[in-house]
Amino acid sequence: MKDFKLICTACGKEYSIERVDPRCDDCNEPLEMELVKKGKIKQGNPLQHTILERYSDFFPFNEIRNDLSLNEGFTPLVSISRIAKRIGLKNLYFKNESQNPTWSFKDRGTLFGIQHAYSLGYKKVGAVSTGNMAVSVAAYGKRAGFDTFIFVGKNIPAEKLNPIAIYGAHLIRVDGDYGRLYYESLNIGRKQGIYFINSDVTYRVEGYKTAAFEMCEQLDFDVPDYVVVPTSAGGNVRGIYKGFLEFKEAGIIDRVPKIIVAQASGCSPIYNAFIEGKDKVERVENPDTIAHGIENPFPPSGNAVLKMLKENGGTCISVSDEEIIIAQKEMAEKGVFGQPESCVPLAAVKKLRQQGYLTENDRVACIVTGSGLKYTAAFEKHNLKSHTCKLEELNNFIKDNF
Ligand SMILES: *Cc1c(COP(=O)(O)O)cnc(C)c1O
Ligand SMILES: [Zn+2]
Repeated sequence: MKDFKLICTACGKEYSIERVDPRCDDCNEPLEMELVKKGKIKQGNPLQHTILERYSDFFPFNEIRNDLSLNEGFTPLVSISRIAKRIGLKNLYFKNESQNPTWSFKDRGTLFGIQHAYSLGYKKVGAVSTGNMAVSVAAYGKRAGFDTFIFVGKNIPAEKLNPIAIYGAHLIRVDGDYGRLYYESLNIGRKQGIYFINSDVTYRVEGYKTAAFEMCEQLDFDVPDYVVVPTSAGGNVRGIYKGFLEFKEAGIIDRVPKIIVAQASGCSPIYNAFIEGKDKVERVENPDTIAHGIENPFPPSGNAVLKMLKENGGTCISVSDEEIIIAQKEMAEKGVFGQPESCVPLAAVKKLRQQGYLTENDRVACIVTGSGLKYTAAFEKHNLKSHTCKLEELNNFIKDNF
């Protein structure tokens, strides 16, 4: 590993780059790799690079194992001018993370977690999750030949269990309090040498920087004014922000976009703290939103995200399930079908434009975090239609009806 340090996001205490425990011994806040201030994008054909390779200057690994990769990242940045025009913005981009190997951005963080586990000589990895992270760690862990452990709650429905099980990892339904399971997994990991690549662990956040790096490249280094990120634990938004900061430090871009943290109103601990001007999140009781991937009632990076927003000057907003469903349909009709979480940014942008926070000349990028096919139950909210007609009548049916 290169000579970088890990630093506590709250108290600044320093730790070794090899540390696996993601939180500070003194204040229990998340640790972060120090800001990389120098580096270049690897020259050459991105089609022949993995994200580990292309941006290797910004990561601590001396030996890169490209065979751990499933060619995640390099996802499209789609411009949807008709939606932009309708809501009164100059440009609206959608970073379509559903085109990752397991159909969500989690793959970026999983790859870097796995690479770190390998660098330290681990043979076992794991995750506590019922959603996209479980799927991602199961896929990457198994592929890398690690003994891979996925802990889920006992009552997880089959439609969520099977997409994890298919990759062949050790999948364990745990009977007990799911909130405690996260902390227990870290204990078990320490005792049994399992590297848990959970929600906002240090190297997962590092991996998320690559989405920012790519957006810079995709826009010829003319970064958007705002980047909107649907936020739960807070790992993704921290990573994306850090990515822009590092490219700025390295002189690759000349400014850092303002970050908009978007939450669902049925579970918005970061938003609640933000509007009350607090610097600590409080647990939300009885979270309830259709966007289950952003339903963490007590986000482990919540305080770090509040601090980040203060430093960056961005904002935080929450939107209702109804607004999310409308946004999902609007995006799908322009060819980008995201899961409900992924439609929170567009709903947020519409609201912020109405409120006048965003103005006509702003260029805004929304992070579409995962695929709409991940949560087919949302179809029921849409009153979807089709037509029926006899084969002999089809010609006239088309002529008469459309
Ligand atoms: C995990 C996830 C999020 C939230 O990311 P955090 O890093 O937990 O803030 C948002 N959308 C989707 C689809 C996810 O899977
Ligand atoms: Zn600390």
